[in-house]
This record gives sequence, C-alpha cells and structure tokens, in this order.
Amino acid sequence: MTAPTSAPAAAPARTTVGIVGAGPAGLLLARLLHAAGIDCVVLESRDRAYVEQRQRAGILEQGTVDVLRESGAAERLDREGLPHDGIELRFDGRAHRIDFPALTGGRRVWVYAQTEVVKDLVALQLVDGAPLLFEAQVTGVTGADSSAPTIHYTHQGVDHTLACDYVVGCDGFHGVVREAIPVEARQTFERTYPYSWLGILADVPPSSDELVYAHSPRGFALLSMRSPTVSRLYLQVPNGTDPADWSDDRIWDELDARFALADSDWKLARGPITAKSVLPMRSSVTEPMRHGRLFLAGDAAHIVPPTGAKGLNLAAADVTVLAQAFTALHRTGSTQLLDAYSATCLNRVWRAEHFSYFMTTTLHTDPSQSPFDTRLQLSQLDRIATSPHAAAELAANYAGLPLN
Ligand SMILES: Cc1cc2nc3c(=O)[nH]c(=O)nc-3n(C[C@H](O)[C@H](O)[C@H](O)COP(=O)(O)OP(=O)(O)OC[C@H]3O[C@@H](n4cnc5c(N)ncnc54)[C@H](O)[C@@H]3O)c2cc1C
Repeated sequence: MTAPTSAPAAAPARTTVGIVGAGPAGLLLARLLHAAGIDCVVLESRDRAYVEQRQRAGILEQGTVDVLRESGAAERLDREGLPHDGIELRFDGRAHRIDFPALTGGRRVWVYAQTEVVKDLVALQLVDGAPLLFEAQVTGVTGADSSAPTIHYTHQGVDHTLACDYVVGCDGFHGVVREAIPVEARQTFERTYPYSWLGILADVPPSSDELVYAHSPRGFALLSMRSPTVSRLYLQVPNGTDPADWSDDRIWDELDARFALADSDWKLARGPITAKSVLPMRSSVTEPMRHGRLFLAGDAAHIVPPTGAKGLNLAAADVTVLAQAFTALHRTGSTQLLDAYSATCLNRVWRAEHFSYFMTTTLHTDPSQSPFDTRLQLSQLDRIATSPHAAAELAANYAGLPLN
C-alpha cells in the first residue's frame, strides 16, 4: 500500500487558521493547533517526497526538542537523535571544548536532521492531523486587513480559495504570503556575506563525537553529522562557487588542511560523498511579523546564516508562541497574546540574528579582511577559550535561550 500524500484529498473551502507551507514551521503549528482543538488547513506547493528529502538543518535546541515531545512528535527523535553536550572550537592550531550543560545549568542540543523532523510531523499529520495538501501552490492572500482573509491556490490544475479567520505564512524565505503585507506596512533588514558554504554528505562515521567549528587561514570549516554513520561537512567557499569544480579528493584535502592541529596529525576519516551543494549566507528580518489577521513565522519572516544552527529552532519557537496565542484566543477569547506575537518573537529573533552574525563573522575569513581583523578574530576566540563568562555566553545562545 502506498503512503497517502494528502489528507483528505480535497481541501475544505473554509477554516479557522490557514497555514501556507509544510516545512517545520507549518507542520509543527498544525500539530499544536490540532492538539488544542483549533481547526486548520496546511497548503504546500511541493510533493511529499520533495519536502521530506530536502537537506537542511540538523541541530535541535533543548526548547525545540521539548515542544516536539509535547506535541507527540518525538518518539523517533528520542530513539535516534544524538544528544550533544558541547562543541569544539579550533583556531590557531589548537582545540577548545565548550561544555554546554556545565555552562548553562544543564541545557544541551540534539543532532537530528530536519528531514527526519519533517517526516515525523508529516506522518502524524496524515494519520490524525488537520488537512494537509501537497502540490497546492498558493498564489496570493487577499483581505489581510479584513476579518476574512482568503488564500488563493492552485491544486491539481484547478484554482481554489480558502476562506480563513487567520492566515499564517510559513512559506519560507521565497514565499508569497509576506507580499500580502503592504510595502508601507513592513520593513526588511538584511545583510549578505561575501562567502558561501560548500556542504557535503558522506557515508562515513563522523570523525568527532561533537561538532567542530574551525577558524583557519584558509577559511572556515565545520564538521557535523546526521547519524552515527553519516557525516555532514562544510567548507567556506567564494560566492558563486560551482560544486562541480570541487572533486571529492579536493574537498577532503581542504577539510583536513582547515581542521589541522599544531600538536597532532589528526585527520578526517574519508568515505563516499553522496551529496554536494552550495549554500549562500544571508541575514534578513521582516518587521512586524503580523499585519491584521496575517502572521509570518519561520523563514518567511527571518533567515540567519547557518553558523549558529538557529534557523529551524527559530521557526519552532515562533510557532510555539503563535500556537499558545491561538489557544488563549480559542479558550478565553483574549487577543492579548496574539497582539503581542510580533514583539515577543522579534525579541528572540534579533538575539539569534546577532548570535548567528557573531559566529559567522568570528569564524569566517572575509576576502577583504586585513591581518588586523584576523588578530581580532583570534583574540575573540581566545577570550571564549579562557573566560568562563565568554564561554557561557556562547553556550547559552547555542543551546538556545528559554522560550519566554
Ligand atoms: C539550503 C538550506 C540549508 C540550510 N541549512 C541549515 C543548517 O545547516 N542549519 C540550520 O540551522 N539551518 C539551516 N537552514 C535553515 C533552516 O532549514 C530553515 O530555517 C527552516 O527550514 C525554516 O523552516 P520553515 O518551515 O520556516 O521554512 P521552510 O523549511 O523553507 O518551509 C517553507 C515551506 O513552504 C513551502 N512554500 C513556499 N512557497 C509556497 C507557496 N507559494 N505555496 C505553498 N507552499 C509554499 C515550501 O515548499 C516549504 O515546504 C538551511 C536552509 C536552506 C535553504
């Protein structure tokens, strides 16, 4: 029997909360609303296989794990996820470990790929969740300012409308919902970076039990993992790099050079590379995250460079706050939390934006940077390695700040 791709096959014509996008934000929001007895519908432009296989984030903060557990979506995560109690920083040929529980009063992170989070949430939703339509391309939202916003979409070649009490854009950075907010009512703050990441997946056990972030004169490198048998590694490369220009041997040699330690001949274990892609780096925040009855959550409202592992976690935090607000409205009629949604989230978003920017600019080599700039980076890294206060600040941000 083949797995269903939509449940049910046809979307209702109206719902309480119309959710655009079945990434982590949209799926988790639907799960939380369904559990609270709030009617919703999820519309996703791609098919199920595409959504489930899209390689992206892999680090879950404590708070993200907590909300996945509360929503009943963590059974496999608890079995297969890898709890991590620290990261290693490498710079100037030496290694320094950041111990999260010791520095944060017990917080840690989990390695569990975004693909797996999405698979778990889709499976639950199709069994007992709210309607989820794949290959439903949203073309626009009208009436954001009115009491009856409408989502316009195309499904199986037919144009439809979905009348909603509220619309939530969980449709990622390139989504359409943000465009329904008049330009004069929103502001976007952005920064691009003069480098990208070349990311690989390799069928080889990770060469370190914990993530390794390396600052080197040749540029940044990151050792990460997806499972005990699959490594995920990244190299800083110039913008516009074509992955085809990087042979497997060249990638492994460059990774070894960037992770090199002065007092050991540590080398990466090598294995077959199964995927190569280039990821540009950008920071962006759109404010406010609400206009009338339209809300933005996750990448639809903000993106970060992946160095701080914050993107997926911010998306989970936004929808947790939003679900609490819709639940309060549903139970008590109070709009207080909904009215506070944008300000509540932006507080946390800007902290994560700063942390991601800090990690990125401290660890990467800007092509225009001077020897003075490099000395400043090394001084900052040395401060983290020698000051418990500086290390605690990094650990608290990395492991994730409490939701409220
Ligand atoms: C290539 C890449 C690599 C990344 N790597 C990392 C990483 O290593 N670490 C990290 O922390 N973060 C990483 N991120 C960021 C992280 O994956 C995102 O922050 C996270 O996916 C945000 O979830 P979301 O649900 O808000 O958006 P998304 O996951 O982007 O989901 C949006 C959904 O909306 C759908 N959609 C879009 N437009 C429409 C439409 N018109 N109609 C209907 N549906 C629509 C999309 O198909 C998609 O399924 C990466 C992001 C990218 C793009």
